[in-house]
This record gives sequence, C-alpha cells and structure tokens, in this order.
Amino acid sequence: MPESILESALAQFNTAADQVRLDDQHREYLSSFKTTFHTQFPVEMDDGSFRMFEGVRVHHNVARGPAKGGIRYDLGVTVDEVKALAMLMTWKCAVVGVPFGGAKGGVVVDPRAHSAAELQNLTRRFTSELVPIIGPEKDIPAPDMGTNPQVMAWIMDTYSMAHGYTIPGIVTGKPLALGGSEGRFEATGRGIQYVLEEHLRAEGGLAGRTVSVQGFGNVGGVAAKLLQQAGAKVTHLGDRYVSLHHPGGIDATSAFAYTQAGGTLADWNREFGHAEEIAPEEVLSAEVDVLVPAATESVLTGANAGDVRAPLIIEGANGPTTPEADAIFQQRGITVIPDILANAGGVTVSYFEWVQGRQFMHWTEEEVNAQLRRIMAKAYHEVMSRCPVGGEGCTQRQAANWLAIERVVEALTLRGFFP
Ligand code: NAD
Repeated sequence: MPESILESALAQFNTAADQVRLDDQHREYLSSFKTTFHTQFPVEMDDGSFRMFEGVRVHHNVARGPAKGGIRYDLGVTVDEVKALAMLMTWKCAVVGVPFGGAKGGVVVDPRAHSAAELQNLTRRFTSELVPIIGPEKDIPAPDMGTNPQVMAWIMDTYSMAHGYTIPGIVTGKPLALGGSEGRFEATGRGIQYVLEEHLRAEGGLAGRTVSVQGFGNVGGVAAKLLQQAGAKVTHLGDRYVSLHHPGGIDATSAFAYTQAGGTLADWNREFGHAEEIAPEEVLSAEVDVLVPAATESVLTGANAGDVRAPLIIEGANGPTTPEADAIFQQRGITVIPDILANAGGVTVSYFEWVQGRQFMHWTEEEVNAQLRRIMAKAYHEVMSRCPVGGEGCTQRQAANWLAIERVVEALTLRGFFP
C-alpha cells in the first residue's frame, strides 16, 4: 500500500481514473508534471557566512489556467512531496471551478531557526531563481506551511524589482497594504466552516457539535476559531508541541489571538486555558462529532485509522489521509470530506485577490465571504450529487476526483495539442 504523499496522490488519481474509464493517453498525461524546477542556492546568514539551501517549484497541469499553489518552508520538503501537492492543486482548482492549474513550491528550511533578515535573504534569493518560471499570468505563488503574508510581500518586491515596476499579481496572500484581499488570511478555515455548515444543514447545523482540530496555524487555528464562533465546541486541539483536551470546550478564539501575537499554545493554556494536556494521537482518536486534521500530510494511516472515533472527518491539511486509511474509513462508514473540496477556500479567495489585482478593485470582506460561501456550497453540492452521503460504493473523495478529472480532461480536449 502507498504511504508517501506522491504515491497516495497517484493511487487516488488512478482509482478515480479507473472509475471514470479515463483513456491511457490522458492517464499518462495527467500522471506527468509539466515543469519540475529544482535549485540549490546560497543565502547570507546574520554572521556574514553563507549557507546553501534547496528549493523546488512544480507545475502539474495548466490546461485550465495559470499555475497556482503555495510555497512551503519546511525541513520535510522533497521534490516528490511538492509534485503531489501540485497535483492536488490541479484537482482542487477544478473542483471549485477557479480558472487555475496546479503548482506548488517549497524550500528545505526550518523557518523558526532563522531570523527575519535571514528569511528575507532566503526568500529574495529563491524568488530570483524562480523569476523565469513564475509570473502573474503563468504561475502565482501563495502562502503555505511556514510562509505568510510577509514572505509574499518579499516575493512581490523581488519579482517587481527584476521587472522595474510593481507587479502585485505575482502572488496572492499578500498583506492588505500591498493589494491583498480582505478575508484571504481566514479563507481556508472559513471555507471549512462553510462546507461543514452545508454538510450538517439537514441535521441541525454546527451548534453544539464537538470538534477536534489537529494543527493550530493558518488553517487549523482559523477553523477552530470560526467553528467555535459558529456554535461548535472545540474539545480537543493540538499543534506540533502540545495537545489539549477540555470537555467544556477550549476557547480557540482567545488561544488563536495569543498565538498570532507571538505566544505559544502551550503558554496560552498554562495562563488561560487550563485544559488537560494529552498525547498527540488522542487528538486524532478523540470521541467527537467532527475531526479536522489541519496540520500536515499522512497523519491518518493504516496504523491509526481504526482508532478514529469521529463519524465525520473534514480535511483541512493537504493529503492528511493515506489511501489505506481511506479504505478503512469507507469500510467503517466514516465520512471524509476531502482536502480538494474542504480546504479550497484559500485558493478561491486567492483567485478573488488575483481578479481584484487585475481590475484594481477592492472588495469588502462581506463581498469576499459571500462569494466564498457561494462557491464552496456549489462545489460541495456538485460533489455530493455524484456521491450522496451513505451512497453505496463511492466516497466524497472519489466523487471530487471524478469531477476534477472530467473538468481538466474537458479543458485539455477543447484546447487540443500543439503542435
Ligand atoms: P501553518 O504553518 O500555519 O500551521 C501548521 C500547524 O500545524 C502548526 O500549528 C504546527 O505546529 C502544526 N503541526 C505541524 N506538524 C504537526 C504534527 N505532526 N502534529 C500536530 N500539529 C502539527 O500551516 P497552514 O498554512 O495552516 O497549513 C496546514 C496544512 O493545510 C498544510 O497541509 C497545508 O498544505 C494545508 N493548506 C493550507 C492552506 C493555506 O491557505 N494556508 C490552504 C490549503 C491547504
């Protein structure tokens, strides 16, 4: 059984391709990667020395529009991981119907081990290496694990310097002062909330539901906060360093404000939360209504899928569930709302940011959130119409993959092949 994220992504693609009876040529095309750019580059450190770093950018498929995807700073970045995440971006953009292809990038670095000056040097040098393959009409980076609006600002400035004028459309997820969109920072977590609200609409909505969230960064932190504000009770919560349980509910709004101001979740808990500290795996096996894995990939595997007690999983992270775990969840009747639908709120508002940038328009947060809800709800119902909950022999992941593959193949067919 595949356990690496690239093996998982290809296995999921092949299963879906079998089910939609995709011909061999398109199967080969869509298992391939248009561009794989791999660079090693020097960065000056604060003490005047320099160190070599490794960076990757991959374009999977651009039939439906310019390549779009985040840049991740993490020690675990590999070419295979970036390829898998680029492929997921192709499917994700197709599921929500935004006119982009799939890309991803990363640098092998622990951002917490460097000063702001070193991170700026690294970002600017990596951006310079990327100049030939990125651009507002060909490949538009965004934040991902370990990167943030400040990193996007440095990318925009470096790219603009290379061209001699300001080009805000080169990245999304920028600070508001540089043409970022209202609502972009919260978009992925808010998209999770909107999809869950659609899913639970017929069963009384989110109010009173218990939730466990793994990951307390941009996706998990915002999701936990917004789900709490929508009436759910966050009983379990964990990040890389601490895992918490409070049967009365953890105040995710207060905790997220604290961590965003530079504090740690563990310190917040000691000072304000007073939740019980638990083992990290208990966040995933918690007896709750909804489990939100929102940290990183391949955390739900064949080894622990049998321990999951939540009847519903909504994937905040990219690729948190291996195919082996997926099969166990299907067998156990656990519904999984897949990443390419559930966490597509980020790329959807990135699309709004890109559109606003091209039109020199600024939408209000209410306009952004209303459009986000419309798109997430439409995508949710399009997926569900292919595989109703409890439907025999299909999962929401398969249905989302079918929809995505059909849309990408339709674009490829309409464009034809050149020359
Ligand atoms: P982030 O760096 O802001 O936060 C990651 C969080 O996960 C941190 O709290 C970290 O401590 C925690 N974490 C990391 N490894 C962990 C582990 N093994 N166990 C428990 N906690 C762990 O990153 P993010 O932007 O929130 O991204 C999280 C995931 O969501 C990634 O898979 C990313 O690709 C995906 N994603 C992000 C966006 C976005 O807009 N930022 C959009 C779609 C998908």
